[in-house]
Amino acid sequence: MKPTTSRAARRLSKKTHKNAPLSIADLAAKVESARLKDIDTSVQTRAKRILSSYLQTAQSYAMPVKDVVAEMASGQAAWRLGHAVRDEIKKAPSDVVHKAACAEGCAFCCILSGGEGGLITAFEATQLHDALEPHHSKPDGRDWHPEACPALDPETRKCRAYDARPMICRSFISMNAEACEKNAAGGKEQGAGLLGSHLDYLVIHALCRQALKGITMVHSYSMAATAAGAVGGDTATDTLAKSRHKPNALDIACRDGAAAAGV
Ligand code: SF4
Ligand code: SF4
Repeated sequence: MKPTTSRAARRLSKKTHKNAPLSIADLAAKVESARLKDIDTSVQTRAKRILSSYLQTAQSYAMPVKDVVAEMASGQAAWRLGHAVRDEIKKAPSDVVHKAACAEGCAFCCILSGGEGGLITAFEATQLHDALEPHHSKPDGRDWHPEACPALDPETRKCRAYDARPMICRSFISMNAEACEKNAAGGKEQGAGLLGSHLDYLVIHALCRQALKGITMVHSYSMAATAAGAVGGDTATDTLAKSRHKPNALDIACRDGAAAAGV
């Protein structure tokens, strides 16, 4: 039926729009209008730019919108984008990267003081769980140090989920292994920390959560609890249910990440 007044035309247009299927352009608009409390505008603008280029690429490849939503919700999008930024940083000629003391079997950074082990996404939690499932009931990192990550091999001190290790493990770097050892024992030595790409990853994931409000839930998880569940023999579903964070954990991680990066 043709609308008879301009007000009716506007109502019909609104209704039609409301019933239209979600598009990637809608997601891009939601990302653009997302706001993260207490996070510097420049950090948010940078993360939005990265996330927008992901959405443009998805659109140019005609990726189904449900797949894009799934990647944003699971954290696969944040993981992939954070990884790309990290790779760029690692190519740059910086002292921090090129003089890093990190080596296989050096595992003081895998001592998770406080027990949390850092925030990971559903995508990472699932990958970590699946990689550790075959190690169910074997000695784990906690047989070397009571606060070590359960993914660690207690004898070789190598990560048993290396290819599936979360972004927080891939982003941690140090120019001084002794500082790491002291910090693992409660010290406050300088020289170890997270690459800047980690903040991009966190803020991108938080923006995905904002953009998907009312569409789907976006959770975060504890790395240590995920690894413990996996080596303890829990199913992936039970592990994720037990290691799921309260909603404000992602906001806190973004704020802490920004403070550590000095922004
Ligand atoms: S971050 Fe520290 S403890 Fe971890 S591998 Fe590098 S030097 Fe070793
Ligand atoms: S997942 Fe692997 S790299 Fe990360 S803390 Fe655990 S043992 Fe270390």
